[in-house]
Amino acid sequence: MPTSRNRYTLSEAVGDPKDWSYTWAVTDDVTLSCTCDFCGQDEQRLTYEVTRDTCTLWICQRCVGRYPVTGVLDGQRLDAASARAQIHGLTARQKQRTCQEAIRKAQAEAPEASLTEVIVYFDRNLQLSPHHAAVLFAAMAKLEEPIDVRIFEIQTRSTAHQDEFGALSECDRMLVWPALSPLQRRRLASRGFAPAGAQQRRSRGVAARETELQLAGSRMTALNELAEINSKQ
Ligand SMILES: [Zn+2]
Repeated sequence: MPTSRNRYTLSEAVGDPKDWSYTWAVTDDVTLSCTCDFCGQDEQRLTYEVTRDTCTLWICQRCVGRYPVTGVLDGQRLDAASARAQIHGLTARQKQRTCQEAIRKAQAEAPEASLTEVIVYFDRNLQLSPHHAAVLFAAMAKLEEPIDVRIFEIQTRSTAHQDEFGALSECDRMLVWPALSPLQRRRLASRGFAPAGAQQRRSRGVAARETELQLAGSRMTALNELAEINSKQ
């Protein structure tokens, strides 16, 4: 995979990022298969529409954080920091909506009381406990249109949640495992909870990719915290 060692530099065709403006349109791809038009990074979940004259591009979260793209809101041109804050707010709300839709789709496929419980839990926490994740992912696996389980964040920070993961069946742990960050996997593996089927292959490429996912994961956590603040207002 040549892309795993790519440094994701700005495409020359972009020119000066300051010349581009956000339209505030956000795309949330639940199959994680969007590509950034600024840096070329693929396997993206969230992309943001930017325009310059008659051109339109979609850029990734990393480029949002890296380049001073601005935008007009309520007739005012925002500076780069305010534009970024606006994008973060939109992102948090979009991620929440997407996850809620995914849960509701799964519920429509397999109407069970347990999924109603998952909805209540997610709406309250914006994350899933290991048990709720296993229930949801089993239902999601039956959906015709695939949804990547990585759109959800799983709670593993507390010992109680780690124990909850450890108490799941081997099959359920395999369902939840792909949604965990490398850091979460290492923590659970160190407690002896890694499912037997999940052999850690750590070639150089994989290690580099894991670092990237970890960075993306920490940003997502920050956004989720933001979402929490928003929902409490
Ligand atoms: Zn990018």
